[in-house]
Amino acid sequence: MKQITTFAASAYRIDDLQLFRDSDAALAARSLAHCPVVQLQQGESVSDTSRARLYIVLSGALSVTADTRTGMADGTVSKVLPGESVGEQSVLDEEANLSLMTALETSELLVVEAEIVWRLIDESNGVARNLLRLLSFRIRAANAQLRRRQKLGEFYRQMSMIDGLTGLYNRAWLNDLLPEMVASAHGGGKPLSLIMIDLDHFKNFNDSHGHLAGDQALRAAAQVLSGALRPSDCAVRYGGEEMMVLLPDTNVKVAVVVAERLCERIRQAVVFRDMRLPLPHITASLGVASLLPGQDDHGLIASADAALYRAKDGGRNQVVVQETLFS
Ligand code: GH3
Ligand code: MG
Ligand code: MG
Repeated sequence: MKQITTFAASAYRIDDLQLFRDSDAALAARSLAHCPVVQLQQGESVSDTSRARLYIVLSGALSVTADTRTGMADGTVSKVLPGESVGEQSVLDEEANLSLMTALETSELLVVEAEIVWRLIDESNGVARNLLRLLSFRIRAANAQLRRRQKLGEFYRQMSMIDGLTGLYNRAWLNDLLPEMVASAHGGGKPLSLIMIDLDHFKNFNDSHGHLAGDQALRAAAQVLSGALRPSDCAVRYGGEEMMVLLPDTNVKVAVVVAERLCERIRQAVVFRDMRLPLPHITASLGVASLLPGQDDHGLIASADAALYRAKDGGRNQVVVQETLFS
């Protein structure tokens, strides 16, 4: 950064500078007369951490990385064109200017020390008004960006909760949500039922039809689950070929009816049509449990799992309900 002249000795005009538009031009010209005009070569950077200053681009263009223009030190890059400025905020809050400015082409900048900016604010309503307008614009831009980031963050958070193969919720979602669902069922004195579903002899299915057909079968089973549930119910891929359905506000009797329906629909699901083979079908075993007083999420899963184990033991392709309720 090399000083080439002062503002008074340069050919630049006050009217071209955003901050002084419609203000007392003679006053501004006097105040800025001795301010240095510096030149940056293309690619040259300035990271001014020493003191608060205003930089006004007179010619060329700057790229500015965070944080005086957006208020966010997050690597946001913006382009600053002739007439525009960098560093108003640092002048106002007297913090050093933390942005990194890089010349996109050979550029000339007017460097205004904080004391001069303050004097201009004190003496010219026009400058104060322009500065407020500029800051308000910056705040709006920063807020809009924050909202965009929040939306994007929410999108990625949701994506990280969805199983890629089946489109069902995944284990991370379950770990997050099931304790909440259990607490809310206990708190509201409402039932909560859980159905654990495991595809039968799925290893054989893979061995006979191939792994890709196995994936297709898993998707078909998942579609049966998501197609058969109410909006308040949730289907989760618990692991490999194990899935789970959560039924809030549903007692065990109703949950068994739902499970029977799912069992039947899985049995009838068409996985894929292959002219050379008889239609391959899948079946599943289902274990049903409802939340007991004082039981936590692990306890609920364990009792559905135990019921599922008995369904396998009893010959598969069937629904078994947790023992505790009827013994
Ligand atoms: P069971 O009736 O006792 O449940 O028998 P099973 O063969 O289904 O049980 P096992 O747990 O021995 O095997 C599960 C199989 O599920 C083995 C594994 O290859 C398959 N599997 C798990 N995840 C996937 C997947 O994402 N895609 C495919 N194609 N197969 C999977
Ligand atoms: Mg299985
Ligand atoms: Mg299994």
